[in-house]
Amino acid sequence: MSNQDMDTQLASIQEEFKVKSSEVKSITDVDAINDYFFNRKKGKLTNVLRGLKSIKDPAEKKNLGKLANETKIEILAKLDKLALEYKSTTAKMSNFDVTLPGKTPSLGRIHPLRQVQEELVDIFYSMGFSVHEGNELENELYCFEYLNIPATHPARDLQDTFYVKKYQNSDIEEVLRTHTSNMQVRIMEQQKPPLRIVVPGRVFRNEAIDASHEHTFYQMEGFVVDEDVSISNLTYVLKEAMSKILQQSVQIRLRPGYFPYVEPGFEADCSCVNCDGKGCKTCKYTGWVEMLGCGMIHPKVFESAGYEAGKYTGFAFGIGINRLAMLKYGIPDIREFMKGDLRFLDQF
Ligand SMILES: [Zn+2]
Repeated sequence: MSNQDMDTQLASIQEEFKVKSSEVKSITDVDAINDYFFNRKKGKLTNVLRGLKSIKDPAEKKNLGKLANETKIEILAKLDKLALEYKSTTAKMSNFDVTLPGKTPSLGRIHPLRQVQEELVDIFYSMGFSVHEGNELENELYCFEYLNIPATHPARDLQDTFYVKKYQNSDIEEVLRTHTSNMQVRIMEQQKPPLRIVVPGRVFRNEAIDASHEHTFYQMEGFVVDEDVSISNLTYVLKEAMSKILQQSVQIRLRPGYFPYVEPGFEADCSCVNCDGKGCKTCKYTGWVEMLGCGMIHPKVFESAGYEAGKYTGFAFGIGINRLAMLKYGIPDIREFMKGDLRFLDQF
């Protein structure tokens, strides 16, 4: 190796180091550069330093030796600095506790009303009922007339019903359905008994809102039609369904109630799940909670559906899903459901 060569080599080593050190990303890269230049056997700078021995001229040897040594010191100093920089990053990383809990992204949930509705659907489905959905915008025939609610009936009052517009420019009014019972005659027209049907859905009442009244709420209509359906079938179905949804065995009590589309009609009470019927604030110390309206389907309804007079009997019931959810979860105010308050909804 000539002296000129050694000079050039030292210059190229400095250039190479500049490039390599600018590409360092980790302590491993620093170690690799160290090895590349200073490996005892094949390190690039080690080789140059080893070559010094063969230089004969003492002055030249001294000159080149000085230059080579300066290059070595400079590179080692820079490598030290890099090592320190990347070691401290590694040290910082090792202070990071990977076992700490991370930030959990907030997940959406199914609304409590929907949960109760889906549970009810599953329960009735397991009892052989089929599930229908229906029109929220309904004409007054199916909502009232066919259900034995004549035009003079107070339920049709403007204070209770949202009237929308004249139905297809006829004299028939269109309304937002006030109950899911609007589907009774629609389904009976399409299907012949035996029928076991539930219709969950949203209903609307033109009402002042307070802790127990909403203008928009959820119901589930249920009805069974066959040749020999009795009140005991009705109480059995209600007892089964309520026991399942409230997750404990409950009693059902029927009191007389008036709904134009059933005869006889009942208010069904459920034994209080809060106090097991002993009496508490929820049940107003009666041991019973008012649950739903029900009864044996009125002959006029069968007539509206075009069924042969006297051939069929059946029962119908309407479950208030909001009320049931309030009882199930102990919610005191019906308005909570529609507020969209995540602190409330996150509990379910
Ligand atoms: Zn009670």
